[in-house]
Parts: sequence; C-alpha cells; structure tokens
Amino acid sequence: MISIPNILAAQKDFFASQKTKEVNFRIDLLKALKTEIKNNEQSICDALKKDFKKSEFETFLSEFGLVISELNLAIKNLKTWSKPERVKPSVLTFPSSDYIYKEPYGNVLIIAPWNYPFLLAIAPLVMAIAAGNTVVLKPSELTQNTSKLLTKILSSVFPKEVVISIEGDAETATQLLAQKWDYIFFTGSVSVGKIVAKAAAKHLTPVTLELGGKSPCIIDDSVNLKLTAKRLVWGKFLNGGQTCIAPDYVIIHSKIKAEFIGILKVEIAKMYGENPKVSPDFPRIINRKNFQRLSVLLKGESVVFGGDINESELYISPTIIDNPSLKSPVMSAEIFGPILPILSYNSEKDIENIIWNFEKPLAFYVFSKNSKYIQTTLKKYSFGGGVINDTLIHFGNQKLPFGGVGFSGMGCYHGKHGFDTFSHKKSIIKRGTWLDPALRYPPYQNKLNFVKKIFKLFS
Ligand code: NAD
Repeated sequence: MISIPNILAAQKDFFASQKTKEVNFRIDLLKALKTEIKNNEQSICDALKKDFKKSEFETFLSEFGLVISELNLAIKNLKTWSKPERVKPSVLTFPSSDYIYKEPYGNVLIIAPWNYPFLLAIAPLVMAIAAGNTVVLKPSELTQNTSKLLTKILSSVFPKEVVISIEGDAETATQLLAQKWDYIFFTGSVSVGKIVAKAAAKHLTPVTLELGGKSPCIIDDSVNLKLTAKRLVWGKFLNGGQTCIAPDYVIIHSKIKAEFIGILKVEIAKMYGENPKVSPDFPRIINRKNFQRLSVLLKGESVVFGGDINESELYISPTIIDNPSLKSPVMSAEIFGPILPILSYNSEKDIENIIWNFEKPLAFYVFSKNSKYIQTTLKKYSFGGGVINDTLIHFGNQKLPFGGVGFSGMGCYHGKHGFDTFSHKKSIIKRGTWLDPALRYPPYQNKLNFVKKIFKLFS
C-alpha cells in the first residue's frame, strides 16, 4: 500500500539534494525512458487495443510517435534550454549583466485522462523531468491496461523518489490534491479542472489545466467539398471521436449543406467501410457510462447517417445529425464521441449566435479559400488553437504551444513550451562594481529633472 505523504516526503528530500538540477542526470533519465518505451512499443499498442480497441496505426501516430518526438527534442536541446539565458541590460541597471535562470519548480503532480492515455501522461512528464522536477503521475482509471503498463515502465526507469505512477480513481486523485505540490499539471474535463484549480489555490500552487469544450468547424461556400469532407471525417472520428480537439460540430453555408452531407457519407464509408463495426480502425467508446451518455444525445434528433449502437460492444457508429437545436442535449456540452451535428448559416450573425453561445473552445477550424474571411474569423473568436483547411494537426507541431483559454484551460505545453511550463524563470542581475553613480541615492535634491530626462531618452 502506497502512502502518498511518504512518497511526497521522499520526493521533497530528493529534490532538496539538488541532484535533479544536474542536466546530465536528467538527460540520462530521459534516454533510459526512451529506451524502455521503445522496448515496450508492442505492449503499448496491445494495451490500447485492449482498453478501447484502438488500432496500432492510431496508437503509433497519435501516442507513441509524439512521445518519442518529445523525448528526442528534450534530449537534444536540454543543455541549451537549461543554460542561464543572457538578456540585454537596461540603462537603468548599468553597469550589469542580466540573465534568466531556469529553475525547476520542485515536486510536480500530473493527472492524466483516459482518451490518449499514453501520450497525455508521458508527454508532460518528459518536460517536467527535463526541467528538473520530480513527478507523481496519476494515470486514468478507465484505461486499466495502459495505466498498469505506464506504472511498470516508469518504475523500471525511475527511482520512486524521482518519478512514480500512482494508479487510482477520483478518490486517489483527491488524496493527491490534498498535498502541497510545487506545480500541478491536469488534463481532463472542465468540471474536474475546477476541482483541481480549487485544490491548487489552497496552497497557491501554479497549475496548468488542459481541458475541453465545444470546438467548432466553419465551412464556407468556397471550399473543395471532397477534400474538406475527408479532413473533417479523419479529425472527427479518429480515436472514435474521443479527442479533446475533435471538431465538435460543423457550421456550413446553407447553400452547400445537403451536398456536403452526401459527400461526408461517402468519405466515412471509404475510411471505415459500409459496416464500421467490423473495421479494425474504428475504436470503441471507453466505458458504459460514456456509451449511455452518448446514446441519449441521439434521441429525438434527425440522424441522417449512422446511429447504429450496440451496448454490449460499446459501439457507436460514425453518426451525422442534421440541424439540431442549440438547446438540444447534443449541443449543450462537449460531445466527445463519434457524433457530428451539422448546423448551417446564411450570415455572419448566424455563426456568431452559435459560437458565442458557448464558452471559449479548445480548438477552432475554418475551411475557406477566402483569406480575408479566414483572418477576420481567426481574430474575432477566442479559442485555444486552430487550423485553416484541416483538423487536429496543430497538435503535431512541437513549436506551437498547445493549450486552452477560458473554460478550455490555462497554460500550455509541447516541445520547449513544455520545458518552460515546468520551469520558474528567475531574473538575475550581476551588477558591476567599477561604477556607482550617485544619482539614485538620497539626498534627491536637484536630481529629479535629470532622472526624467534619462527615462525619456531610454524608454
Ligand atoms: P476527467 O476529468 O473525468 O478525468 C481526468 C482525470 O481526473 C482522471 O485521471 C481522473 O481519475 C481524475 N479525476 C476524476 N474525478 C476527479 C476528482 N473529483 N478529483 C480529482 N481528480 C479527478 O476526464 P476524462 O474523462 O479522463 O477525459 C475527458 C475530458 O478531458 C474531455 O473533456 C476532454 O476534452 C478533456 N481532454 C482535454 C485534453 C487537452 O489536452 N486539453 C486532452 C484530453 C482530454
């Protein structure tokens, strides 16, 4: 039986030993983690298949490959990233050398969701370690096979005073949140995000919240319908629609809606066959609770494609709903499943009325050939991140910060942004001793005008 306070005490002691401040120590750990993950590639695919029938291809593309990229980037750049960064001195501090030191926060808690259970646990962990922190990871209880494997991999690479995975449900997470951490990184739902923020506030612990929301996809009447449909189907139904940045619903120009729905049906059949239930590439809903939640969303709606459900197999086929009311259950919260509502617009006001009906979303997609319209739209609406003429792919560029805004979250990570998230930036000035102008010292008499002139000249 793991004692959470004892584990945290051991991690506190280890952090105090200053060992994690050694860059080579971190690089060695990251290299060992990479080797262990690579040795377990097949086991990772098997675990995800057991958990929700995720295909090997999708596991490689959306979990394994991205984790290895984060590890490679951190291993290659860590020495540079962690060096004190010299910045230009200010005339007000002259003579001086000015620096930003990157300091690990200390003891980090990472709470992960189930939908990309490997990626969303390990990607933040890599950058937390790279930045010199210790980590307690709480993987999701809904993906038992992947979570067990995560625990096994981490325990074979790290001493528990550096990194430990503690499996468990909300109760375990509550016990973890009752401790005083130096940083909390949470990925999951908005409702649990609020609980995490409240627990963090008690100790003034800084927190990153990677949450969800209803991410819209606007399609105007200038687009290539076939290409748009293909890219939309891929982004919506990847991972069985259980993706935080999946396009939640479509808003399409009314002129082309009927034709577009026809093309969507063809593209879905091309990707998953006439019967997606037998497709090896189409995952299942994670559990009965989510299956039942999603099944209810179909009731009373105009289902124009799909709608096949099978509770014993936790199967919901790719489904299209035409023109649901904004007050309907399917338009009331993030769908997080393979159900795509299609709404239409005739004017910009129609689009505003739909998008501003919701909290700020995590992702935003606009398909158009009209660059002026695209730029106006991107500036008008607030959202975490987005893509023009495709879906999801902004997640794949490590140079782009990934995170939400408002109800879709706070803070960001990926690549160097992740290293920065887990590092406190200490401002340090080394003051020269060879000159010490008398200007700043009292008595101030007759000095004010001269100080004003200096500020005017240099600001
Ligand atoms: P969830 O919020 O139910 O669970 C996430 C984690 O929180 C799990 O580890 C769970 O055990 C823990 N938890 C549950 N109840 C808790 C409580 N009362 N106190 C403390 N911890 C608790 O989310 P989920 O169902 O695993 O994931 C789906 C949600 O996550 C969706 O809303 C999705 O949009 C969002 N998500 C966001 C991102 C992102 O990067 N922004 C990525 C994936 C998923």
